[in-house]
Amino acid sequence: MDMRSIPSRYQTPAAALFTLLLGAAWLTAWGWKQQATNGIVERELQRSIAVATGLSNLLMPRYLIDLRRASGTPADAVAKLDFLKALGDDVTDQIRGQRVARVEIHDSRGVVIFSTEQRAIGRDQSQDPAIRRALRGEAQASLTRGTRTGALADATGGGRDLVRAFVPANPGMPGKQDAVFEVYADVSEIMADVRQEAHTVWAVANLAGLTVFGVALMILRRAEEEQRRKDAITGLPGRESAIAAMAEMQKADGKDPPIRSGWLIVGVQRLRQVSAAYGHRTADDVLRQAAARLQTLPEAKSGLFRLGGEAFALLIVDRGTTDTDEELAERFARGVIGCFEAPIDCEGHAVVADLAIGIALGRDGDASPEDLMNRAEVSMTEAKRQGSGRWLLYVPGLEQGVRDRLQSMGGLREALERNQFQVYYQPLVDAGSRAWIGCEALLRWKHPVKGVVLPDSFIPLLEETGLIVEVGRFVLHEACRQAAAWRRNLSPQLTVSVNLSARQFADPDLLERIRQVLVETQLPAEALTIEVTETFLALEPEYAASVLANLRKLGVAVAIDDFGVGYSSLSSLRRLPVDILKIDRSFVTQAPHDPVDASIAQAIAALARGLDLTLVAEGVETEAHADFTRNIGCDKLQGYLFAKPLDVATFEAAFRNS
Ligand code: C2E
Ligand code: CA
Ligand code: CA
Repeated sequence: MDMRSIPSRYQTPAAALFTLLLGAAWLTAWGWKQQATNGIVERELQRSIAVATGLSNLLMPRYLIDLRRASGTPADAVAKLDFLKALGDDVTDQIRGQRVARVEIHDSRGVVIFSTEQRAIGRDQSQDPAIRRALRGEAQASLTRGTRTGALADATGGGRDLVRAFVPANPGMPGKQDAVFEVYADVSEIMADVRQEAHTVWAVANLAGLTVFGVALMILRRAEEEQRRKDAITGLPGRESAIAAMAEMQKADGKDPPIRSGWLIVGVQRLRQVSAAYGHRTADDVLRQAAARLQTLPEAKSGLFRLGGEAFALLIVDRGTTDTDEELAERFARGVIGCFEAPIDCEGHAVVADLAIGIALGRDGDASPEDLMNRAEVSMTEAKRQGSGRWLLYVPGLEQGVRDRLQSMGGLREALERNQFQVYYQPLVDAGSRAWIGCEALLRWKHPVKGVVLPDSFIPLLEETGLIVEVGRFVLHEACRQAAAWRRNLSPQLTVSVNLSARQFADPDLLERIRQVLVETQLPAEALTIEVTETFLALEPEYAASVLANLRKLGVAVAIDDFGVGYSSLSSLRRLPVDILKIDRSFVTQAPHDPVDASIAQAIAALARGLDLTLVAEGVETEAHADFTRNIGCDKLQGYLFAKPLDVATFEAAFRNS
């Protein structure tokens, strides 16, 4: 078994278990072998003793005199004794048919007076402990292995298993033995069988040990796998389980096959920002709450999974509704959206979840679970891009758009590395005098082929990839540096506005960075305005309020951009530490001929006055726009009527002309 394939944290216990099991198997086999051997050996020993006793009983009465006489004969003359021939014949008769390899008879001194092995006759074995014991009247037998040389070699050829039995002629009479009968039995075959069996048991034991080990390992790994599949925060199964669940369901044909199946993937966004604002423990808690809400959906019965990050997947199973794909998708999407209508509680702060939902459906397994999952993810990515709260059903070809964007995302990183980003400046003029009193920093991409690319086409991508944080730092630093320079050599009162996206706001280093940039560029804090959009403020008012308050403490002004189009309530504005309102361009453009827009613009102006905020109008393209905005009380104006966003050189030249 390959130990490397075992998860590392199980290796030590697994190795211990392995050793233990193998040890147990070995002991079992050894014990069995010992027991079996002992039984068989004991039987053979008794049998040999019986044979020797038989010989003794037969021969003693017949040859007692001869044997006593032999004991008085010198050892080297023993072979010539006359009765040996007759004795040999009797012995041969007696042991015929028995498993006897050799018979020896010793006289009372321990000298071999007869042996089926002629050469042994006359050998003095008085020092052999077994003979000595027999001479003391003790019958005994032992198992031994014949050697290739020496006393045992002759009869056995060596390497055989032999039982040697010694039986005294006068048992129980120490020192009074007339003879000792020694019988050799060859038990090699029997012992070979025993060994073979022990070997088999050994092999089986080992196999059993290994099997048990393998099974134990499999169980351990499966448990680990299971754990890995489950998400530690929500306890929900993950992507692999999701794919497996759909495959299982599609396979369950025969009984009640689904006619349609698919995925709804919901990205509960803004949790990342929450985590930056309140810490990860809170973000985890928010995730758990999100999971718990989704679990209350009847649609979640078929399966709810967490795909990682902020995404959850619902398994869609349709067993026969008449809904079209769109209707089915909408029903599921509405259910999920309904779950998140109430804000999520985040340490006492209400956080409105921002959802992006992607749905993909398939019929009769026309797409694999993985494919459907990918399609749903593509749809979700697209829904996310299109704006918050959207749901999107997959249609073929959707990937192409996503792929194109991915490609330009690659281009964006390159753009950053190759300094293709550049900051343009659009002037803000005093509503009365039209003097250039400030400027807004606006990002441009100097594309080597496409030329100057406007931010609307790539800012969302920068946000998706997180590159916005890095690019935003660049803009901030560049704008502050430029403004400081212009204050020295163009106009000492000039201010600069920098746009920050929601993603940049979630950057925990934001405040420190701004402080640092102001120091580095020597721009006074009051010369900098940070513009944030209303949408962001509305979604997370408490967090936003704390960041804005800190910005203000720094001395930096805060402007709310695109005011009037988002869904912020006017009342929330009261609680936010804000200095400037920028009326959205749409009101300015429409107001001169649209009474509704005009009255909204007027209401916003009144609000700004009431809250003592500076009011800025953007998108001022015509004199009519300028008149209207000045009349309702705008302090500063911005728009093509005065200047488009300009590069540094053009801005300087135009400023001197203005
Ligand atoms: P925004 O902050 O609302 O910026 C004003 C946009 O209105 C600019 O578009 C500007 O060129 C355009 N504009 C100004 N005057 C007029 C006008 O009279 N008529 C018309 N039709 N348009 C006018 P731009 O530069 O294309 O920027 C678009 C958006 O991209 C900005 O909207 C802002 O949200 C974002 N953006 C630009 N630079 C940055 C940046 O450095 N960081 C971040 N986070 N966002 C940026
Ligand atoms: Ca702006
Ligand atoms: Ca704006």
